[in-house]
Amino acid sequence: MRIPNFTDVLRARRVIKEHLTPTPMWSYPVLDAALRTKVYVKHENVQPTGAFKIRGGLTILSSMDAEYRKHGVVTYSTGNHAQSIAYAARQFGAPCVITMPERANAEKVRAVRALGAEVLLEGATVDEAAATAARVSVERGMRLLHADEPELVAGVGTCYMEIFESVPDLDTVIVPVGSGTGAAAACLVAAAMAPKCRVVAVQSEASPAAHESWRLGKCVSQSNRTIAEGLATGRGFALPQEILRGKLADFMLVSDSAIRCAQRLMLTHAHTLAESAGSAAVAAVLSYPEDFAGQRVAVVCSGGNASEREMPEVLSAEFKRENLERKISIVTASA
Ligand SMILES: *Cc1c(COP(=O)(O)O)cnc(C)c1O
Repeated sequence: MRIPNFTDVLRARRVIKEHLTPTPMWSYPVLDAALRTKVYVKHENVQPTGAFKIRGGLTILSSMDAEYRKHGVVTYSTGNHAQSIAYAARQFGAPCVITMPERANAEKVRAVRALGAEVLLEGATVDEAAATAARVSVERGMRLLHADEPELVAGVGTCYMEIFESVPDLDTVIVPVGSGTGAAAACLVAAAMAPKCRVVAVQSEASPAAHESWRLGKCVSQSNRTIAEGLATGRGFALPQEILRGKLADFMLVSDSAIRCAQRLMLTHAHTLAESAGSAAVAAVLSYPEDFAGQRVAVVCSGGNASEREMPEVLSAEFKRENLERKISIVTASA
């Protein structure tokens, strides 16, 4: 396992500069007032694929030898990783196969096909789609890309370079976590550019595998039932966990209902349609206000690919601070 470092992020940055413009980071006085904290929203939801992962996809495709790249890449995913790899493959003229479970969300399948990738729908779960991807890789000589390749970590690190360049004196940056590549990258970049800034990870308590893996110091599997697709992983990933160990200041769990409240708050107070995963950092501030009071906090809005199906739930999500706090004390009491 090769652990990426800050030099890899600097190298990735040269690639990213050729393909993407830096995303904005805004603060919204009404959002600050609601959260009682100075909050900077890093808008990865405005990336061309609607999520930060595209930084990793472009970086990994660019790192491949041109001859090897001609054979193409294959990966498995139901969500933003698929769109990231499909987009990057198209940019670099590489054939691309994405495998997904048979019952994958039709909106997602359409988005990936529109990017020019071949989508193979096979099996009932992402694990079965992963097996299909491995088979395709062997049969067609395509490189199999996993969710936690070192180049993906280096690529997504460029997001944190932009954050620390635009606000150098942050106290905390809060990163939503699924596999943990984003949070691992945040740790690498913060150590080099903003060593006083705390990196805090957040995950849904309904899918706490990365949190548990970090807490226990070894990769474990956990139940995986969150509504937030970008955060829905059932196991810890070795590479990001290796980086997070010892570097991450804190790892918080939030409820799915807090995520929905945060999603509504982003809509009403920050002109932003975030997907559920993209709202988790704001959910952390909502859920643990005393941890962030008086600080300058960057929240990563990691993606904006909300589906039409979830809109009614977002609009009816009710923010009741008392309820959240009661829920949180129950969670910590049982932990
Ligand atoms: C993938 C994803 C995450 C989690 O990122 P990891 O690097 O897997 O931890 C968070 N938010 C969104 C929108 C995502 O697509």
